[in-house]
Amino acid sequence: MEAMPSRAPVSPTAPPWELTRGMPRIRITDVRAICTAPDGIRLVVVKVETSEPGLYGLGCATFTQRPLAVVAAIEQYLKPFVVGRDPNDIEDIWQGAYVSSYWRSGPVLNNALSGIDMALWDIKGKLANMPLYQLFGGRCRTAAALYAHASGRDFQEVEEEARRYLEQGYRYIRCQVAVPGQATYGVRGEGREREVWEPSAYCRLVPRLFEYLRSRLGEEVELLHDVHERVPPIQAIQLAKELEPYRLFFLEDPFAPEDIEYFRILRQQTSTPIAMGELFVNPAEYVPLIRDRLIDFIRVHISDIGGLSMARKLAALCEFFGVRTAWHGPGDVSPVGHAANLHLDLACYNFGIQEQHVFGERTREVFPGCPEIRDGMLWANDRPGLGIDIDERLAAKYPFPEHPLNGGWAPVRRLDGTVVRP
Ligand code: MG
Repeated sequence: MEAMPSRAPVSPTAPPWELTRGMPRIRITDVRAICTAPDGIRLVVVKVETSEPGLYGLGCATFTQRPLAVVAAIEQYLKPFVVGRDPNDIEDIWQGAYVSSYWRSGPVLNNALSGIDMALWDIKGKLANMPLYQLFGGRCRTAAALYAHASGRDFQEVEEEARRYLEQGYRYIRCQVAVPGQATYGVRGEGREREVWEPSAYCRLVPRLFEYLRSRLGEEVELLHDVHERVPPIQAIQLAKELEPYRLFFLEDPFAPEDIEYFRILRQQTSTPIAMGELFVNPAEYVPLIRDRLIDFIRVHISDIGGLSMARKLAALCEFFGVRTAWHGPGDVSPVGHAANLHLDLACYNFGIQEQHVFGERTREVFPGCPEIRDGMLWANDRPGLGIDIDERLAAKYPFPEHPLNGGWAPVRRLDGTVVRP
């Protein structure tokens, strides 16, 4: 057995191969959670630094409704867990950190773990001098097709916005229309501050929207819609059936995670393709839906399931069951998280579609190397690792905005005051 160098303390989480082979050539020296909100959205990005000068990695740990809880999990618990470790041992670090809390699989701890995990993949790519999609098996497509968000106060506004995207080269468009007088999800200017939501008016309106859009926009465009878990399960089933004639690319989140047993009933009644999962945090939620072929697209938020290590396994599982990927990609996935989505999009055979978010100029300045949007597609650069960086000096200029709930959501309610999920 080689003698341990006396200058370096052994990490309490070091694996046996380090004890027998001596200290690793490279060690993790520091972990920091960086909080920034250049576009007003609370982002948390983790920087893992190493003993190799200039070698560091970035990971997305953004849980925009509870960011400070994630920061505490990273700085108080994961940092002492990984400092001193060899950044090469991604799988061992992931598995060890995952169970070190004993209770696990929640969004706070998964996001914290994702920050470390993505940063370690970024470091591995830099060590290999390869973009991550190369380490994942190489690309199997040129770029990732995106879906854009079209919305409006009425059908005509939705159509006009969809046409603008079609002219820009988009082929996939998610369409949401405001329910008059209600806090409709996914429609700009129809915000949560309006509070009231009744599901029946929405369920009557949406099939008429898609009848209108299909007749105006033709057959070629792929249309998507997000229910956002807002309606009782049986009404979601009715809606999915009524939308069948308009051949959606997918209908998203028809049920809340608490109602996932309804997928079995839904599947027997309609062939409308189903996307599900942005609120999933635990394999016990998504594995049965994939195994039993109850969904068509897996739509998890990668940092919420624990990062790239978990997402790679999930994508591979989905491939064997004909389920395609549609990673969650709104503005509360940081540009680092969007880069992680993209590297999987390029390398996974069963890629389905990528949700797009157009970051503002300030966010793109804070994150040099942010993936580029062109012709309705997302394009990677060929820099090693995730291919993205953070300008910490600039990031510090955009602290989290003041908010009475620190970014938490106020409830949306039915007319009688009942809180509506999600
Ligand atoms: Mg959604």
